[in-house]
Amino acid sequence: MVNLVGVLGDGRWWPILAAPFIGSFLGVLILRLPAGRGVVSGRSACTACGRALGARDLVPVASFLLLRGKCRFCRAAIPRVHLWVELAAVGVALWAASSGEQGGQLWAGCALGWSLLALGWIDALCQRLPDALTLPLILGGIAEALWLEPDAVTGRAFGAAVGYTALWALAWAYRRLRGREGLGLGDAKLLAAGGAWGGVALLPDVLLVSALAGLGWALGRGRTRIAFGPFLAAGIWVVWLYQGKE
Ligand SMILES: [Zn+2]
Repeated sequence: MVNLVGVLGDGRWWPILAAPFIGSFLGVLILRLPAGRGVVSGRSACTACGRALGARDLVPVASFLLLRGKCRFCRAAIPRVHLWVELAAVGVALWAASSGEQGGQLWAGCALGWSLLALGWIDALCQRLPDALTLPLILGGIAEALWLEPDAVTGRAFGAAVGYTALWALAWAYRRLRGREGLGLGDAKLLAAGGAWGGVALLPDVLLVSALAGLGWALGRGRTRIAFGPFLAAGIWVVWLYQGKE
């Protein structure tokens, strides 16, 4: 899957080097955004003892491993999510780079992948897809078209509208038939982001991949209710990366 020699042989390693630091920020985002706490200041203090963290406490991946996952001062456990998200952010960049994306397209792909990573993670933890992430991701898809493929802007905007409408209609129909909430509008906004990044042609495959993955997971775990966001995010990512863009 990862063609490391090819990836390291040209400029494609910049996003990979940036990825642990982006992942560090995403970890803060994932823990703070659903709680309505600010994210701009980053992870500046230990949540247990409140002591200010220095640069050596905040090196992605390395600090966590050197400190064995504990605060230097009070030995309280550092949430493991920080380590996993930092590693996952590197994985996203490696994956995008090894799929042949380059230059601006690679940075755009990483931005999409990192956003989807945060959204899927938050939904898995909190059963929420915050507007603060889905709405910028929709605009980001349109902006990416303006930047790299100006001819595709109309198609992308149409894709966003169709993506939103499709899941909104499904959610509405479910509510009418079953009398309770099946899908959230956060899912509709996330599929709109998929349309904004890949146009309407992307949507059927995204829905198919996400639904099959979600169904497989639910059956495997014996669950009847799951957060759909992580599967939708993964579906958008995989289909966007391999189906090609409108
Ligand atoms: Zn502490």
